[in-house]
Amino acid sequence: MTTVEFRTAEALADAERWTAHNYHPLPVVVAEAEGAWVTDVDGRRYLDFLAGYSALNFGHRHPGLIAAAHAQLDRVTLTSRAFVHDRFAEFCGALARLCGKDLVLPMNTGAEAVETAIKVARKWGYQVKGVPDGQAEIIVAADNFHGRTTTIVSFSTDPDARADFGPYTPGFVVVPYGDLDAVRAAITPNTVAVLMEPIQGEAGVLVPPAGFFAGLRELCTGSDVLLIADEIQSGLGRTGKTFAIEHEGVVPDMYVLGKALGGGIVPVSAVAADRAVLGVLKPGEHGSTFGGNPLACAVGAEVVTLLAGGEFQERSDRLGARLHSGLTALIGHGVVAVRGRGLWAGVDIDPALMTGRQACERLAERGVLVKDTHGSTIRLAPPLVVTEEEIDQALAHLADVLKSS
Ligand SMILES: *Cc1c(COP(=O)(O)O)cnc(C)c1O
Repeated sequence: MTTVEFRTAEALADAERWTAHNYHPLPVVVAEAEGAWVTDVDGRRYLDFLAGYSALNFGHRHPGLIAAAHAQLDRVTLTSRAFVHDRFAEFCGALARLCGKDLVLPMNTGAEAVETAIKVARKWGYQVKGVPDGQAEIIVAADNFHGRTTTIVSFSTDPDARADFGPYTPGFVVVPYGDLDAVRAAITPNTVAVLMEPIQGEAGVLVPPAGFFAGLRELCTGSDVLLIADEIQSGLGRTGKTFAIEHEGVVPDMYVLGKALGGGIVPVSAVAADRAVLGVLKPGEHGSTFGGNPLACAVGAEVVTLLAGGEFQERSDRLGARLHSGLTALIGHGVVAVRGRGLWAGVDIDPALMTGRQACERLAERGVLVKDTHGSTIRLAPPLVVTEEEIDQALAHLADVLKSS
């Protein structure tokens, strides 16, 4: 590492001193940001090729989103769900239409939306499918990432995420990702849902074999099992379509959304499903003090408007092709493999050269922010407002890092 400047060093030391060490951040202290760029406390500029794990799909401080937030701050910001507010139906209706579903249930964080999907699937299983009380099973994939709550880490296969956090919530069956036969074999009369990411982000941007989700759709329909797509990271334009599962021409029974839904301003998550599924919830059975608050709805409604235009999906598709061809050209020059779709890539660096963490540190020194996942894999997910020149710049820096190792 080169020596960091005074303000950066001081801010890093303060953060170490006052916070739990549940993250291992890169030594960058951000002070300002706009579009695809962030500026640190010492005035250095970086291209943000992580985009808040896709929470910043529209870039930092998108003008339309900031305007929507400012306008709402001047009117009303929180009511709780004890009352209705005048932005609620607007957001939920717009999101329902974007998803092609009857109903939306807004929450705040991704993990809460996943928990909501689990609760709804279980209740649907008992009340609609007729599963005996307490016997509901949900099939999930190995190497999944769905969040950090005690129930969700109960079905994680990552020891770091799971170990020492038991006792674990029962009712989950883990199968290999992308293995249709394994799902088929795991289905029992008590199976209420299959919960999976259309592309596994934390696992290293793993794209399942072609036809996997189409097969899963058929299998779920035939077995009276709900297909739940966790599109928290893969959805909302990231892969070149509104939802990553669209690449397989598949419509799930429930979408789980988060991250970019809050426009990089506030935490906004939601599940979307038809009345036959989400309609099982009655007053008092589920909720959230902050879920669907006026500020969240104002920003979320603007996010839906941005996506309804299709421009961001088109950018992701077109610029993603450029990103992927640039990365593929590095195979054999320090890169072992490239995966992903649209403006989303998992890049396996030759482990003989450096770890993923080292690659991230060296890219940060050159002014490009990315994040490692596991081992020697790094993840690139620039905001969808990124330009061709900025992509070429980041690719050139990555090539340099690999060459100079
Ligand atoms: C980030 C993420 C979550 C959890 O979202 P939080 O807002 O961090 O709780 C769940 N599922 C997927 C696929 C994610 O990427």
